[in-house]
Amino acid sequence: MTYRSDFPLLVANPGLHYLDSAASAQKPRVVLDAIRDYYETSYANPHRGAYSLSVLATERYHAARARIAAFLGAADADTLVFTRGTTEALNLLASSITRSNIRSKDEIVVTALEHHSNFVTWQQAAIQAGATFRICELTPDGHIDLDMLAGMLGPRTRVVAFGHVSNALGTINPAAEIVSMVRERCDALIICDGAQGAPHLPVEFDQLGVDAYAFSGHKMGGPMGIGGLIATRTLLESIPPYQFGGDMIEFVHDETTTWAPLPHKFEAGTPNSAGAVGLAAAVGYLQAIGMDRVRSHEQKLVALAQRRLEELGSVIIYGPPAPERSGVLSFNVADVHAHDLATILDSTGVCIRSGHHCAQPLMRRLGVAATARASFYIYNDESDVDALVTGVQQAASLFAETSA
Ligand code: PMP
Repeated sequence: MTYRSDFPLLVANPGLHYLDSAASAQKPRVVLDAIRDYYETSYANPHRGAYSLSVLATERYHAARARIAAFLGAADADTLVFTRGTTEALNLLASSITRSNIRSKDEIVVTALEHHSNFVTWQQAAIQAGATFRICELTPDGHIDLDMLAGMLGPRTRVVAFGHVSNALGTINPAAEIVSMVRERCDALIICDGAQGAPHLPVEFDQLGVDAYAFSGHKMGGPMGIGGLIATRTLLESIPPYQFGGDMIEFVHDETTTWAPLPHKFEAGTPNSAGAVGLAAAVGYLQAIGMDRVRSHEQKLVALAQRRLEELGSVIIYGPPAPERSGVLSFNVADVHAHDLATILDSTGVCIRSGHHCAQPLMRRLGVAATARASFYIYNDESDVDALVTGVQQAASLFAETSA
């Protein structure tokens, strides 16, 4: 079964091997259709009108919320706050939690595996609050060092923030184990960066046990500019709003203001309603396939790519063994800079990413400035692996010739 035919950009470019889905996923036709249909049949500013078109726009916006919340396993749809994506969701949390919950000498714990948006955000929150920022290191095969984490947790720990899946190494972190470890040792808030989890794994927020889960729509087939934050009602009701403006107030007095109920308290201003409708269509698309199938499809391709690249001999692969990673493969080819490799691959129609993947702390620990990263999704197949391996082989021999 191939899903490529559902993606207009890939259909229009038969020679293209798109292996950069960890940065952003291509969009299935149903998403493009849903956005167009929304603008053509139901568009107005939600929440603001008594007229029926605005009511319809409001209904579609909230139906999208209900569908996305259910997909991510949150029974209470009003605890899904739409944001521009993971970055904004994590900034919302860090800003609001810092203002209400973090005091000087408190501790915020992250891991060395984090994307900058789950690292810098908490580092800066700690600086602002005079709190201590602590980094849990990794094992040699790219897993969070759980023994070290256990030893870091204590009465001053206020926040533990970790990624569900690493964008740079593909490591799938043991979320349930981390949650029970934290709950046993302290009463910190547990924040999970789900940017690479929600698109690739079945997620059940209500069972996961974290306090908040952030995600981006554009990495799961939805449009750019929409994503969200799912959090417990207790957390969302206990922290102050992130931004102020229209739609998020209950009463505005001259001196003070009270806040609208969830989710509106955290959604100031005109929302990206078309984005939400598009993301709901993406979620419907993934649901129809089944997240277990998405996962097994990617796992098969990543295992194949890992084995075949290892067979080339000149390739260094970073991160865990294939069964413990999602559809991400980070590597370097001896004597070839990752950017050169990506440029050579581009000339053969293969799109990969090269650089630090917004994970400079991790790159420092790996002792490299950059890696090449191929990432797989539902529309990839073995021909993409073939093209990747052939391109890498060509680049390796080209550089071997020029350095000979
Ligand atoms: N966290 C991780 C693990 C990511 O991969 C990304 C995107 N590369 C982000 C956070 C940030 O997501 P966005 O740019 O969509 O806000």
